[in-house]
Amino acid sequence: MKDIRNIDFVELESFVIQNGEKKFRAKQLWEWLWKRGASSFQEMSNLSANFRNKLSENFTFHSATIIDEIISNDQSVKFIIQFHDLKVVEGVLIPQKDRVTACLSTQIGCPLACAFCATGTMGFIRNLHYSEIIDEYLLLNNRAKEIFNHSITNIVFMGMGEPLTNIDNTIKSIEILTSRDCFGLSPSRITISTAGIIKGLKTLADKNLRCGLAISLHSADPVIRRELMPVSEYNSLSDLQKAISYYHNKTGDRITIEYLLLSKVNDSERDAELLARFCRAFPVKINIIEYNPTDNAPFQKSDAQSREKFINILNRCNMVVNVRHSKGQDIAAACGQLVKKKRI
Ligand code: SF4
Repeated sequence: MKDIRNIDFVELESFVIQNGEKKFRAKQLWEWLWKRGASSFQEMSNLSANFRNKLSENFTFHSATIIDEIISNDQSVKFIIQFHDLKVVEGVLIPQKDRVTACLSTQIGCPLACAFCATGTMGFIRNLHYSEIIDEYLLLNNRAKEIFNHSITNIVFMGMGEPLTNIDNTIKSIEILTSRDCFGLSPSRITISTAGIIKGLKTLADKNLRCGLAISLHSADPVIRRELMPVSEYNSLSDLQKAISYYHNKTGDRITIEYLLLSKVNDSERDAELLARFCRAFPVKINIIEYNPTDNAPFQKSDAQSREKFINILNRCNMVVNVRHSKGQDIAAACGQLVKKKRI
Protein backbone atom coordinates (compact mmCIF):
# COMPACT_ATOMS: atom_id res chain seq x y z
CA MET A 1 0.00 0.00 0.00
CA LYS A 2 1.10 3.53 -0.72
CA ASP A 3 1.79 5.98 2.08
CA ILE A 4 -0.97 8.60 1.99
CA ARG A 5 1.65 11.34 2.09
CA ASN A 6 3.37 10.06 -1.04
CA ILE A 7 0.52 11.07 -3.32
CA ASP A 8 -0.29 14.47 -4.73
CA PHE A 9 -3.53 16.43 -4.43
CA VAL A 10 -4.89 15.31 -7.82
CA GLU A 11 -4.52 11.63 -6.88
CA LEU A 12 -6.05 12.30 -3.48
CA GLU A 13 -9.02 14.05 -5.07
CA SER A 14 -9.67 11.23 -7.52
CA PHE A 15 -9.58 8.69 -4.64
CA VAL A 16 -12.14 10.82 -2.76
CA ILE A 17 -14.48 11.00 -5.76
CA GLN A 18 -14.08 7.31 -6.65
CA ASN A 19 -15.17 6.45 -3.12
CA GLY A 20 -18.38 8.43 -3.36
CA GLU A 21 -17.27 11.35 -1.20
CA LYS A 22 -17.81 15.02 -2.04
CA LYS A 23 -14.86 16.77 -3.76
CA PHE A 24 -14.28 19.15 -0.83
CA ARG A 25 -13.33 16.16 1.37
CA ALA A 26 -10.03 16.04 -0.54
CA LYS A 27 -9.21 19.54 0.73
CA GLN A 28 -10.12 18.53 4.29
CA LEU A 29 -7.97 15.44 4.03
CA TRP A 30 -5.09 17.48 2.57
CA GLU A 31 -5.33 19.93 5.46
CA TRP A 32 -5.12 17.12 8.00
CA LEU A 33 -2.03 15.82 6.28
CA TRP A 34 -0.15 19.04 5.53
CA LYS A 35 -1.58 21.79 7.68
CA ARG A 36 -2.92 20.28 10.86
CA GLY A 37 -0.18 17.68 11.18
CA ALA A 38 -2.34 14.60 11.84
CA SER A 39 -0.43 11.42 12.57
CA SER A 40 -3.28 8.94 11.98
CA PHE A 41 -6.54 8.65 10.04
CA GLN A 42 -8.47 8.36 13.31
CA GLU A 43 -7.64 11.98 14.22
CA MET A 44 -9.44 13.31 11.12
CA SER A 45 -12.62 14.10 12.98
CA ASN A 46 -14.46 15.94 10.19
CA LEU A 47 -14.28 12.86 7.91
CA SER A 48 -16.85 10.11 8.38
CA ALA A 49 -15.78 6.92 10.16
CA ASN A 50 -16.66 5.00 6.99
CA PHE A 51 -14.36 7.14 4.85
CA ARG A 52 -11.56 6.95 7.45
CA ASN A 53 -11.84 3.17 7.31
CA LYS A 54 -11.59 3.26 3.50
CA LEU A 55 -8.48 5.38 3.81
CA SER A 56 -6.83 2.95 6.19
CA GLU A 57 -7.76 0.01 3.94
CA ASN A 58 -6.08 1.69 0.97
CA PHE A 59 -3.15 3.63 2.38
CA THR A 60 -0.52 3.37 5.07
CA PHE A 61 0.12 6.40 7.24
CA HIS A 62 3.66 6.25 8.53
CA SER A 63 4.24 8.42 11.53
CA ALA A 64 7.26 9.16 13.68
CA THR A 65 7.69 9.37 17.45
CA ILE A 66 10.08 10.96 19.88
CA ILE A 67 11.66 8.11 21.85
CA ASP A 68 14.09 10.11 23.95
CA GLU A 69 14.98 13.69 24.78
CA ILE A 70 17.82 15.27 26.71
CA ILE A 71 17.91 18.83 28.03
CA SER A 72 21.16 20.76 28.05
CA ASN A 73 22.33 23.16 30.77
CA ASP A 74 21.79 25.97 28.23
CA GLN A 75 18.15 24.81 27.68
CA SER A 76 18.73 23.32 24.22
CA VAL A 77 16.95 20.00 23.87
CA LYS A 78 18.07 17.06 21.77
CA PHE A 79 15.40 14.64 20.54
CA ILE A 80 15.74 11.12 19.22
CA ILE A 81 13.08 10.57 16.59
CA GLN A 82 12.13 7.11 15.40
CA PHE A 83 10.52 6.32 12.05
CA HIS A 84 8.30 3.41 10.94
CA ASP A 85 11.32 1.21 10.11
CA LEU A 86 12.75 1.82 13.62
CA LYS A 87 15.60 3.92 12.23
CA VAL A 88 16.32 7.08 14.21
CA VAL A 89 17.64 10.60 13.70
CA GLU A 90 18.39 13.40 16.08
CA GLY A 91 16.85 16.85 16.04
CA VAL A 92 17.56 19.78 18.32
CA LEU A 93 15.55 22.73 19.64
CA ILE A 94 17.60 25.79 20.48
CA PRO A 95 15.80 28.54 22.42
CA GLN A 96 17.09 32.11 22.24
CA LYS A 97 15.48 35.32 23.48
CA ASP A 98 12.40 35.58 21.26
CA ARG A 99 12.98 32.65 18.96
CA VAL A 100 13.16 28.88 18.95
CA THR A 101 15.33 27.33 16.26
CA ALA A 102 14.86 23.73 15.17
CA CYS A 103 17.86 21.91 13.76
CA LEU A 104 16.47 19.21 11.44
CA SER A 105 18.10 16.18 9.85
CA THR A 106 17.69 15.21 6.20
CA GLN A 107 19.34 11.78 6.24
CA ILE A 108 19.95 8.92 8.63
CA GLY A 109 23.72 8.99 8.91
CA CYS A 110 25.65 10.85 6.23
CA PRO A 111 27.60 9.80 3.14
CA LEU A 112 30.20 12.56 3.38
CA ALA A 113 32.34 11.48 6.35
CA CYS A 114 33.78 14.87 7.30
CA ALA A 115 36.74 14.23 9.60
CA PHE A 116 35.48 16.41 12.47
CA CYS A 117 31.87 15.17 12.51
CA ALA A 118 30.33 12.45 14.65
CA THR A 119 27.48 11.85 12.19
CA GLY A 120 30.02 11.08 9.47
CA THR A 121 31.28 8.10 11.53
CA MET A 122 27.86 6.40 11.23
CA GLY A 123 28.11 6.07 7.46
CA PHE A 124 25.07 6.56 5.30
CA ILE A 125 21.93 4.61 6.19
CA ARG A 126 19.16 6.20 4.14
CA ASN A 127 17.56 9.42 2.98
CA LEU A 128 14.60 10.84 4.83
CA HIS A 129 11.43 11.17 2.78
CA TYR A 130 10.01 14.69 2.77
CA SER A 131 7.10 13.53 4.94
CA GLU A 132 9.62 12.32 7.52
CA ILE A 133 11.34 15.72 7.52
CA ILE A 134 7.90 17.28 8.08
CA ASP A 135 7.31 14.79 10.92
CA GLU A 136 10.52 16.00 12.58
CA TYR A 137 9.23 19.57 12.32
CA LEU A 138 5.79 18.66 13.68
CA LEU A 139 7.13 16.66 16.61
CA LEU A 140 9.65 19.34 17.55
CA ASN A 141 7.10 22.11 17.11
CA ASN A 142 4.71 20.39 19.53
CA ARG A 143 7.50 19.99 22.07
CA ALA A 144 8.64 23.62 21.53
CA LYS A 145 5.14 24.78 22.47
CA GLU A 146 5.10 22.53 25.53
CA ILE A 147 8.63 23.26 26.75
CA PHE A 148 9.18 26.89 25.72
CA ASN A 149 5.61 28.04 25.28
CA HIS A 150 6.66 29.13 21.82
CA SER A 151 6.37 27.63 18.33
CA ILE A 152 9.43 27.06 16.21
CA THR A 153 10.42 30.36 14.62
CA ASN A 154 13.47 29.26 12.61
CA ILE A 155 14.64 26.08 10.95
CA VAL A 156 18.18 25.11 10.06
CA PHE A 157 18.91 22.03 7.98
CA MET A 158 22.09 21.34 9.92
CA GLY A 159 21.26 18.08 11.63
CA MET A 160 22.30 14.65 10.40
CA GLY A 161 23.06 14.36 6.71
CA GLU A 162 23.91 16.49 3.71
CA PRO A 163 20.69 18.15 2.48
CA LEU A 164 21.93 18.49 -1.10
CA THR A 165 22.56 14.76 -1.50
CA ASN A 166 18.86 14.35 -0.64
CA ILE A 167 17.89 17.43 -2.56
CA ASP A 168 14.45 16.43 -3.89
CA ASN A 169 13.10 15.57 -0.44
CA THR A 170 14.76 18.62 1.11
CA ILE A 171 13.25 20.97 -1.48
CA LYS A 172 9.82 19.34 -1.25
CA SER A 173 9.84 19.62 2.56
CA ILE A 174 10.71 23.32 2.30
CA GLU A 175 7.94 23.85 -0.23
CA ILE A 176 5.47 22.26 2.20
CA LEU A 177 6.80 24.20 5.19
CA THR A 178 6.54 27.50 3.33
CA SER A 179 3.38 26.97 1.26
CA ARG A 180 0.39 29.06 2.35
CA ASP A 181 -1.76 25.97 1.78
CA CYS A 182 0.38 24.03 4.25
CA PHE A 183 2.44 25.43 7.15
CA GLY A 184 3.02 28.93 5.76
CA LEU A 185 6.46 29.53 7.33
CA SER A 186 8.56 32.35 5.97
CA PRO A 187 11.40 31.03 3.76
CA SER A 188 13.69 33.70 5.21
CA ARG A 189 13.52 31.79 8.51
CA ILE A 190 14.84 28.59 6.97
CA THR A 191 18.54 27.96 6.32
CA ILE A 192 20.01 25.10 4.32
CA SER A 193 23.53 24.18 5.32
CA THR A 194 25.67 22.26 2.84
CA ALA A 195 29.20 20.95 2.55
CA GLY A 196 29.16 22.45 -0.95
CA ILE A 197 27.70 20.00 -3.46
CA ILE A 198 28.13 21.86 -6.74
CA LYS A 199 25.28 20.26 -8.66
CA GLY A 200 22.88 20.76 -5.75
CA LEU A 201 23.88 24.41 -5.36
CA LYS A 202 22.99 25.07 -8.98
CA THR A 203 19.63 23.35 -8.56
CA LEU A 204 18.95 25.41 -5.43
CA ALA A 205 19.94 28.62 -7.22
CA ASP A 206 17.55 27.86 -10.09
CA LYS A 207 14.75 26.97 -7.64
CA ASN A 208 15.31 30.21 -5.71
CA LEU A 209 13.39 29.08 -2.62
CA ARG A 210 14.25 32.38 -0.84
CA CYS A 211 15.81 30.46 2.07
CA GLY A 212 19.15 31.22 3.65
CA LEU A 213 22.18 29.27 2.45
CA ALA A 214 25.18 28.36 4.59
CA ILE A 215 28.27 26.73 3.10
CA SER A 216 30.45 24.68 5.44
CA LEU A 217 33.84 25.68 4.08
CA HIS A 218 36.24 25.02 6.98
CA SER A 219 39.30 25.61 4.83
CA ALA A 220 40.13 27.53 1.68
CA ASP A 221 43.28 25.47 1.18
CA PRO A 222 42.47 22.62 -1.24
CA VAL A 223 44.74 20.10 0.50
CA ILE A 224 43.48 20.82 4.03
CA ARG A 225 39.88 20.92 2.87
CA ARG A 226 40.18 17.54 1.19
CA GLU A 227 41.52 16.10 4.45
CA LEU A 228 38.71 17.61 6.49
CA MET A 229 35.97 17.08 3.93
CA PRO A 230 36.59 14.23 1.46
CA VAL A 231 33.63 15.53 -0.61
CA SER A 232 35.98 18.30 -1.73
CA GLU A 233 37.75 15.88 -4.04
CA TYR A 234 34.77 15.93 -6.43
CA ASN A 235 33.56 19.42 -5.52
CA SER A 236 36.72 21.49 -5.81
CA LEU A 237 37.17 24.89 -4.21
CA SER A 238 37.34 26.63 -7.58
CA ASP A 239 34.09 24.97 -8.70
CA LEU A 240 32.54 25.81 -5.35
CA GLN A 241 33.53 29.43 -5.79
CA LYS A 242 31.87 29.46 -9.22
CA ALA A 243 28.74 27.77 -7.86
CA ILE A 244 28.43 30.31 -5.04
CA SER A 245 28.82 33.19 -7.54
CA TYR A 246 26.12 31.57 -9.68
CA TYR A 247 23.87 31.25 -6.63
CA HIS A 248 24.43 34.86 -5.67
CA ASN A 249 23.81 36.12 -9.20
CA LYS A 250 20.57 34.12 -9.45
CA THR A 251 19.16 34.94 -6.01
CA GLY A 252 20.86 38.18 -5.00
CA ASP A 253 21.36 36.63 -1.54
CA ARG A 254 24.36 36.97 0.72
CA ILE A 255 25.69 33.53 1.64
CA THR A 256 26.92 32.47 5.05
CA ILE A 257 30.29 30.77 5.19
CA GLU A 258 30.70 28.41 8.14
CA TYR A 259 34.26 27.95 9.35
CA LEU A 260 35.07 25.55 12.16
CA LEU A 261 38.29 26.76 13.76
CA LEU A 262 40.61 23.83 14.55
CA SER A 263 43.86 24.30 16.38
CA LYS A 264 46.93 23.99 14.11
CA VAL A 265 44.79 22.66 11.27
CA ASN A 266 43.06 25.67 9.70
CA ASP A 267 43.62 28.58 12.11
CA SER A 268 46.89 30.14 10.86
CA GLU A 269 47.30 33.64 9.42
CA ARG A 270 47.72 32.05 5.98
CA ASP A 271 44.43 30.17 6.43
CA ALA A 272 42.67 33.46 7.24
CA GLU A 273 44.15 35.13 4.16
CA LEU A 274 43.09 32.22 1.94
CA LEU A 275 39.59 32.38 3.40
CA ALA A 276 39.35 36.13 2.72
CA ARG A 277 40.58 35.57 -0.83
CA PHE A 278 38.02 32.79 -1.42
CA CYS A 279 35.20 35.06 -0.23
CA ARG A 280 36.16 38.09 -2.28
CA ALA A 281 34.10 37.04 -5.29
CA PHE A 282 30.66 37.45 -3.60
CA PRO A 283 29.11 39.07 -0.52
CA VAL A 284 29.30 36.77 2.49
CA LYS A 285 28.97 36.67 6.22
CA ILE A 286 31.55 34.42 7.89
CA ASN A 287 30.55 32.44 10.96
CA ILE A 288 33.55 31.28 12.95
CA ILE A 289 32.42 28.19 14.87
CA GLU A 290 33.97 26.90 18.02
CA TYR A 291 34.86 23.21 17.71
CA ASN A 292 32.85 20.74 19.81
CA PRO A 293 34.97 17.72 20.67
CA THR A 294 33.41 14.39 19.69
CA ASP A 295 34.35 10.97 21.07
CA ASN A 296 37.30 9.95 18.87
CA ALA A 297 38.11 12.94 16.66
CA PRO A 298 41.76 14.01 16.75
CA PHE A 299 41.07 17.75 16.86
CA GLN A 300 41.32 20.55 19.40
CA LYS A 301 39.56 23.87 19.37
CA SER A 302 41.65 26.96 18.61
CA ASP A 303 42.94 28.96 21.54
CA ALA A 304 41.65 32.49 22.10
CA GLN A 305 44.80 34.15 20.80
CA SER A 306 44.84 32.30 17.47
CA ARG A 307 41.13 32.97 17.09
CA GLU A 308 41.59 36.71 17.65
CA LYS A 309 44.45 36.86 15.14
CA PHE A 310 42.38 34.95 12.59
CA ILE A 311 39.39 37.26 13.00
CA ASN A 312 41.54 40.41 12.87
CA ILE A 313 42.90 39.38 9.48
CA LEU A 314 39.37 38.80 8.18
CA ASN A 315 38.27 42.17 9.57
CA ARG A 316 41.22 43.89 7.89
CA CYS A 317 40.00 42.35 4.62
CA ASN A 318 36.57 43.94 5.27
CA MET A 319 34.81 40.64 5.92
CA VAL A 320 31.68 40.48 8.09
CA VAL A 321 32.55 38.00 10.86
CA ASN A 322 30.53 36.48 13.70
CA VAL A 323 31.76 34.04 16.30
CA ARG A 324 29.31 31.25 17.04
CA HIS A 325 29.38 29.22 20.22
CA SER A 326 27.30 26.12 19.56
CA LYS A 327 24.64 25.31 22.09
CA GLY A 328 23.94 21.91 23.59
CA GLN A 329 27.57 20.82 23.93
CA ASP A 330 26.98 18.96 27.21
CA ILE A 331 24.33 16.75 25.57
CA ALA A 332 26.21 16.21 22.27
CA ALA A 333 23.63 18.27 20.39
CA ALA A 334 26.00 20.88 19.00
CA CYS A 335 27.16 21.13 15.38
CA GLY A 336 28.94 17.96 14.28
CA GLN A 337 28.01 16.00 17.41
CA LEU A 338 24.80 14.33 16.26
CA VAL A 339 25.26 10.60 16.10
CA LYS A 340 23.02 7.68 16.92
CA LYS A 341 24.23 6.37 20.26
CA LYS A 342 24.19 2.63 20.96
CA ARG A 343 21.80 2.94 23.90
CA ILE A 344 18.89 3.61 21.54
S1 SF4 B 1 29.45 17.74 8.78
FE1 SF4 B 1 27.48 17.50 7.74
S2 SF4 B 1 28.10 16.79 5.69
FE2 SF4 B 1 29.88 16.45 6.99
S3 SF4 B 1 29.68 14.31 7.74
FE3 SF4 B 1 28.71 15.66 9.26
S4 SF4 B 1 26.55 15.68 8.71
FE4 SF4 B 1 27.67 14.96 6.91
